[in-house]
Parts: sequence; structure tokens; C-alpha cells
Amino acid sequence: MAKRVSKKELAQARALIKEYRGKLYLSTNLTSGAAGEVNLETRCISIARTSLANRQIFWSIILHEVGHLYCIDNNRYPIFHKANRERLTARDKRALVLTAWRAEQYVDQWALRELEKLYPELEYLGYDSSHKRWLHQNYLCYFKDQRFKKNRVYSC
Ligand SMILES: [Zn+2]
Repeated sequence: MAKRVSKKELAQARALIKEYRGKLYLSTNLTSGAAGEVNLETRCISIARTSLANRQIFWSIILHEVGHLYCIDNNRYPIFHKANRERLTARDKRALVLTAWRAEQYVDQWALRELEKLYPELEYLGYDSSHKRWLHQNYLCYFKDQRFKKNRVYSC
């Protein structure tokens, strides 16, 4: 049976996110339909409250989202991690869509290494190839549609 996240671990996750100048919200309703997301502007990480039921899932999501904060600060996949997306040109949007999958895989590699340091007994659960389709259908679609003006400030 999956082990639940302890109060101490939850505090540890909050402290880790704070180190990256972020904040954690436990949510029951994520805008993206993903298990976690990060607002690139406010640096708020939202994760599904249900993920507290499983340490492996919880830490995988937390570190994945922190990985996006790392990318913002270290200029990795900058267009994908640009907060002010109202200012993206058509060319930028195209670049965002074309590099998204590689950016997500980079974040997964980063998160995997961090989890190995933190909890080596836990196996990192990242995006697998089936998520590529999900990413295109549920997230990247907004950047492909030129009529879509709403600013999508989060990343999954
Ligand atoms: Zn991601």
C-alpha cells in the first residue's frame, strides 16, 4: 500500500519550494487537469490534494514543478518558461510548442536527480510518451490557436 505524506514531509516540501521563492497550494481543482502546475508569474505551485495519499506521487509532482522554477531562474527553455505570455509573438508561440516536450523531459531529468538526493528509495514518476499527446491536446493547443488571447501563465 502507498504510504501517505507525513506532516513533516509536507513542511519539508513547503520549505524546499520556499528556497526557490515559490509557494505551495493544495488544490481540489487544478485549471489544467494535471496533477500539478506552477504559475510562472507568481511562482505558486498547485498540486492535487489527493496526491498526499502517496509519497511517490507527491514528491514526483513537487520536484517536477520546482524543476520549472529552476528553469525560470537558470534560463532553461526560456520561451517555454516565459511568464508574460501575452507578449509572445507568433514565432515565439511556435517555438514554445516545438520545444515543450524537450523542456518537460529536461524538467523530469532534473526532478529525477533531485529525488535521488532527497529520497533515493522513491522511484521518480515522470511524463511518459503518452503524456506527449496529453500535453498537446490540453496545454499546447492554446499556443497553436492564434485567436486564443487569454494568458496561460502556468506550466504543468
Ligand atoms: Zn512540467
